[in-house]
Amino acid sequence: MAGEIGHMTVDPDGRAPCIYGHQGCLESLASANAIVAKARKKMNRGASSLIREMVGEVENMTIDTVLQAADKGDKLAQQLLGEAAKYISIAIVNCIRMFNPGTIIIGGSMVTPSNFLFSTIRQLVNEQPYVVPNKKIKIVPAKLGKDSCAIGAVSLVLKQLFESSLIEKFVGK
Ligand SMILES: [Zn+2]
Repeated sequence: MAGEIGHMTVDPDGRAPCIYGHQGCLESLASANAIVAKARKKMNRGASSLIREMVGEVENMTIDTVLQAADKGDKLAQQLLGEAAKYISIAIVNCIRMFNPGTIIIGGSMVTPSNFLFSTIRQLVNEQPYVVPNKKIKIVPAKLGKDSCAIGAVSLVLKQLFESSLIEKFVGK
């Protein structure tokens, strides 16, 4: 499980557990599912938001709706994504302190270069004292976006195929 930072504890008082039962891990607090669940709960209790106009029924909301609403200035969406950004930035800062990388690449369906979530994460990480000396660590969104996992998996298979001795049987040495 090394490198599974999605299950790093970022709030020891976190309440709703993730599917593995961790309380206060990143997945339970800042994943797409967690954010949408929090937005639904708040809106079902009467919170006003652009999201209602965008989807009609609260049940139709997806993480894309929340991301778009935040980019349009919606306060509820910005509050929820700001909270998620806080937790994500804690995990990133812990990784920086452990590995001192040159670049942090954030992938997945929630991050695009211009969106509110990404810019808030970048701002929060950069605000940490001594964590980014001279701002030399770049924090960038993954270029492959939503497809990065699938493309990574396929590339591993292709790499193994082309490195294997099987290929020699077909094309000769
Ligand atoms: Zn977890």
